Amino acid sequence: MSYHTSGHATAETKALPPVPLPDDDSAPFWKAAARHELVLQRCAACGAYRHPPRPMCPSCLSMESVWVPASGHGRVWSWVVVHPPVLPAFAEKTPYNVAVIELDEGVRMVGNVLGIDQPDEGMEVEVVFEDVEEGVSLPQWRPV
Ligand SMILES: [Zn+2]
Repeated sequence: MSYHTSGHATAETKALPPVPLPDDDSAPFWKAAARHELVLQRCAACGAYRHPPRPMCPSCLSMESVWVPASGHGRVWSWVVVHPPVLPAFAEKTPYNVAVIELDEGVRMVGNVLGIDQPDEGMEVEVVFEDVEEGVSLPQWRPV
């Protein structure tokens, strides 16, 4: 997955955070997120989940995949708290956490655990969606 910067800082405008730039592999993930649905790519041959989305299964090397609804539930696998200096678009948010969430399906996603300063390792979380601009929503997390 990649990201682009949708805005720039000037004296009059606020710096905007980067937003996802979907590619052929990740487009279904981001389209579902825009509908506030969390989906995962799954190997059509062996059933292994893949995240981030990619063309080939790391388990059996199949190029076939399907998209399936995800549980939206997981646990904090690791985390950091971000302090300045940061990019201007994130300055007002500091300090904030960035966590690696291990989903019940066994894959890991990066996001913020919202509503708390810092999560604990193993904390149960569920997905929530943060609308960042028209048609773009980010999977985020909150404590269960
Ligand atoms: Zn496979």
